[in-house]
Amino acid sequence: MAAGKFNVLFSDLDGTLIFSASRKKVGDIVIEHKDGEDISCVTARQAELLPNIGNIIPVTTRSVEQYRRIEFPKGFAPEYALCDNGGTLLINGESDGPWLERSADIFREAMEDISRFRALLERDPDRRFEVRMVDGFFLFTKSANPVLTLARLGTGESCECFATGEKVYVIPKRLNKGAAVKRLAELIGLPREGIFCAGDSLMDVPMLNAAHTAIFTENIPEYKITAPERIQRPANGFSEFVTEMAAALQRR
Ligand SMILES: [Mg+2]
Repeated sequence: MAAGKFNVLFSDLDGTLIFSASRKKVGDIVIEHKDGEDISCVTARQAELLPNIGNIIPVTTRSVEQYRRIEFPKGFAPEYALCDNGGTLLINGESDGPWLERSADIFREAMEDISRFRALLERDPDRRFEVRMVDGFFLFTKSANPVLTLARLGTGESCECFATGEKVYVIPKRLNKGAAVKRLAELIGLPREGIFCAGDSLMDVPMLNAAHTAIFTENIPEYKITAPERIQRPANGFSEFVTEMAAALQRR
């Protein structure tokens, strides 16, 4: 990727570039399995387009292990990918050392808040899963009542708490997807005008706001998005729309 000369599409994965196998229709292609079950899919049209697309940078909350489980259509091999909500940068599939060290420094600044939230989660009566530290960058658990769990957590100076479905996350503010997109854009010399970001959940808002053009689903209220250009789309068919958009940007 000759950075700086191209428009780059930073894309969330689950619900944005790929979708859950629970929404699989005839013709869709399963790209992730776990314990014998289908986990994620792309459409046939996406499978046709993706191998010729070189301007997508995945930005995901997935751990590196979960990211590597995805079998993208042959030929689609992103040069850069951000995992752990931006804490880890993969360059051609390998974790970048300096990036990881910088992330660890940023994480340490949020340690006090992380410990406090961890203790709160440990004794949350609605918790339905262990409190897990993902790749050393954020806390993850599941709650039977995420709204109540979030209310009990309250707010933190250096961390933010999110829920998507039953999943609950506590993430250092300076290690969010938006901070990661800005860090990487600077590293590869990409001006804001060239930054397109796509996402489908509130955890993607910081990244969408780091973009010049934000592409997001109806799950995200438009007033939360401050990017100069905004494209809001239905959640249904979003992954194909995002892929078509990346292909069109590449032809510009
Ligand atoms: Mg998502």
